[in-house]
Amino acid sequence: MINSKLPGIGTTIFTIMSKMAVDNNAVNLSQGYPDFQPPAQLLEFFRERLLLGHNQYPPMHGIAPLREQIALKAKRHYAAIVDEETEITVTSGATEAIFVAVQAVVHGGDEVIIFDPAFDCYAPAIALAGGLVRHLPLDSPSFKIDFQRLEDTITDRTRLIIVNSPHNPCGAILSQEEIHQFEQLVEKHDVLLLSDEVYEHMVFDGRQHHSFLSSELLRQKTFVVSSFGKTYHATGWKVAYCIAPADLTAEFRKVHQFVTFTTNTPTQWAISDYMRACPEHEVNLASFYESKRDRFLQLMQGHGFAMIPSAGSYFQLADYSALSDLADTEFAEHLTVQHGVAVIPISVFYRQPEQNQRIIRFCFAKEEPTLLLAAERLSQVKTDDCH
Ligand code: GLN
Repeated sequence: MINSKLPGIGTTIFTIMSKMAVDNNAVNLSQGYPDFQPPAQLLEFFRERLLLGHNQYPPMHGIAPLREQIALKAKRHYAAIVDEETEITVTSGATEAIFVAVQAVVHGGDEVIIFDPAFDCYAPAIALAGGLVRHLPLDSPSFKIDFQRLEDTITDRTRLIIVNSPHNPCGAILSQEEIHQFEQLVEKHDVLLLSDEVYEHMVFDGRQHHSFLSSELLRQKTFVVSSFGKTYHATGWKVAYCIAPADLTAEFRKVHQFVTFTTNTPTQWAISDYMRACPEHEVNLASFYESKRDRFLQLMQGHGFAMIPSAGSYFQLADYSALSDLADTEFAEHLTVQHGVAVIPISVFYRQPEQNQRIIRFCFAKEEPTLLLAAERLSQVKTDDCH
């Protein structure tokens, strides 16, 4: 018998649901990825760089032109002055960055606070570092942080707090006021932060993304992680980055160099070329996805799903309690197998799922025909076929 380091952890829900989607020929609104291509110009840059011979190891912390573009972006969006040599590391996806940040600072027995529902890679990374996960539920149904409860959960052993905005799976975003509450928290407590901001450019309805980079005080205590896969519709490229102050970055790189050492070269060149050529892509992303969200909401009207407002990310929650009292994992399977639409149940992101919560997550990063077909199939779900 193997003495598992991750007892109780199975295959991720994303892999399970995407496989179920394929097996059942279902429209896949489960795992979050676009069903359309990255920008043509980005693909062209990639082709050029590949053929030009950018195919050997890049520097361990990422190529200089890409780190330069990341620094410019941090300044452009958040007025943050980031040193590209000592504060930016390019990683093989945000999952790598999150794993590395946790391994870099969490010692055995340290406590790490995460907010449930929490993206599924946080708790295993903490467990593998020997840390203790403290789960704090977000308020329901607003999915907001209860700062009093957070304060009450902090102890002498609390090393790190993991924050996620725009939030996956909920689509909630942090406000300026909440950023301010985090500032007050770090003034009082000696804790570090990890801010997962991979959906930073997908914030809707005229609101703004409030990055931890926008506060000088928070910036000195935070690993900020973002993802090119999300921003450039290229989730399979697995290219992301982490911005952290020099002392934290030095520790981060000690781990990164032995996890992946570095990140594939041609995509780094292609992305830096594209960021230089088309900086407006990031800015246009919010309206691009806001239209998709609105279209999906329109298509889903009158089908019995109560749509929960999504302020950001490319995810949309829906309460299906008017249609079924199945548990969400069973309902997700039912939708996939019987109705041909795969979705994500959100109870899997909780240590203790909320009693009687009947909520699933849709990914709307899809072409019009995909959304149309999904909505048409979902319109067939009737109250009595799934009780
Ligand atoms: N971030 C993606 C989602 O939430 C999934 C990533 C993965 O499959 N690990 O759907």
